[in-house]
Amino acid sequence: MAVAVGYQDKTDDQKAITEMVRQFVDKEILPTAEEYDHEDKFPEPIVEQMKELGLFGVTIPEEHGGMGLDLTTYAMIVEELSRGWISISGVVNTHFIGSYLLLKFGTDEQKEKYLPKMATGEIRGAFSLSEPEVGSDVQGIKSTAKEVDGGWEINGQKMWVTNGLRAGLVFVLVKTDPKADPPYKGMTCFICEKEPGEAEVPGLTIPPQIKKMGYKGVESTELVFDGFKVSDDHILGGREGVGEGFRQMMDALELGRVNVAARGVGVAQRSLELALRYSQERKTFGKPIAQHQAITFKLAEMGTRVEAARLLTMKAARMKDAGERSDIEAGMAKLFASEAAKENAEDALRIHGGYGYSKEYEIERIYRDAPLLLIGEGTSEIQKMVIGKKLLERHKI
Ligand SMILES: Cc1cc2nc3c(=O)[nH]c(=O)nc-3n(C[C@H](O)[C@H](O)[C@H](O)COP(=O)(O)OP(=O)(O)OC[C@H]3O[C@@H](n4cnc5c(N)ncnc54)[C@H](O)[C@@H]3O)c2cc1C
Repeated sequence: MAVAVGYQDKTDDQKAITEMVRQFVDKEILPTAEEYDHEDKFPEPIVEQMKELGLFGVTIPEEHGGMGLDLTTYAMIVEELSRGWISISGVVNTHFIGSYLLLKFGTDEQKEKYLPKMATGEIRGAFSLSEPEVGSDVQGIKSTAKEVDGGWEINGQKMWVTNGLRAGLVFVLVKTDPKADPPYKGMTCFICEKEPGEAEVPGLTIPPQIKKMGYKGVESTELVFDGFKVSDDHILGGREGVGEGFRQMMDALELGRVNVAARGVGVAQRSLELALRYSQERKTFGKPIAQHQAITFKLAEMGTRVEAARLLTMKAARMKDAGERSDIEAGMAKLFASEAAKENAEDALRIHGGYGYSKEYEIERIYRDAPLLLIGEGTSEIQKMVIGKKLLERHKI
């Protein structure tokens, strides 16, 4: 089912690339996602094809081997990928955040060293803030890096690192001055290089992946640092980046919120498509259930949520591309679109009746996948805190 609304706002290039991704999703992802999900298996062949399509370099400038596209186009692509399966967008998303960090804050040497390989997907990126005891309250992290002869030594435990095992680069936030007051001033982001797929390298252990209710196929891992050595070259932004890590990561998270919002739109859209189809096929009391007003109303609400989520997401992305301040808009888009995804998934499940509860039906997977979007890049509660605070700042009397 083609999505009608929103397309009219696309440039010809955006139409071409999203159509290409949509076809890829319809042909390669939708027919196989359930199998990968049920086996919790990494979708290697799909990821290989995504490399060939250039999807790891969408926002990386052409001079570094990427496509040089803007955030708005990237968000459109993420919506399409997530319509297929959010685990696929998960493989790209942390990579995208890593490349953004490099582009915005990296030294010329760091950009030249990593971006061309990231653009092709030869090395993939992950980012790591969360710890076993800390998620929302990022300033409370406990991992540290201390300066030693010839560089730095990282110690501490990280949690929930998406692509933690297969990534070749992990952007890790640690404290370099644990006594700093306020704490964010003592935080630094290190670019940790490692062998993709290796669970044990000197100074770093990656325990078996965390078992999850959904968002399967893509691994979420802990990272246990125990004297992991890095040189100054691995500080994001070089020596000047010492103490800048919190600011850098928060900047990237603002972008990440648009990214998660786009994922929400894709999930909400797919849920709507499945509900529209099933409700016209399934008959009760002598007519398709879509003809019962209670179901028609659900479809109406679902469609409205998709449109509103997409418009908020596009607005935030376009403002960011235009260099405008978009913290409130990114927060609103993330909040609304992730909740829309969860609500549409639940409504579609209800419309499927008993079959929605069966693993034979795609909506069962989507229902398990959708809640992740309420958590990553700041929970809904944290979005509301950010939006409310910023609104009050902007409208101070
Ligand atoms: C599958 C998955 C993948 C992830 N991938 C990554 C990744 O790649 N990199 C990474 O760094 N992290 C990742 N995360 C971690 C994620 O960012 C955190 O789980 C998230 O930030 C929430 O932190 P927490 O789980 O510690 O919850 P907590 O911070 O402990 O929050 C628990 C609850 O309390 C609420 N709460 C907390 N503080 C407040 C407050 N001040 N006011 C009101 N309510 C509050 C929260 O909204 C939540 O409902 C991932 C998580 C998951 C589940």
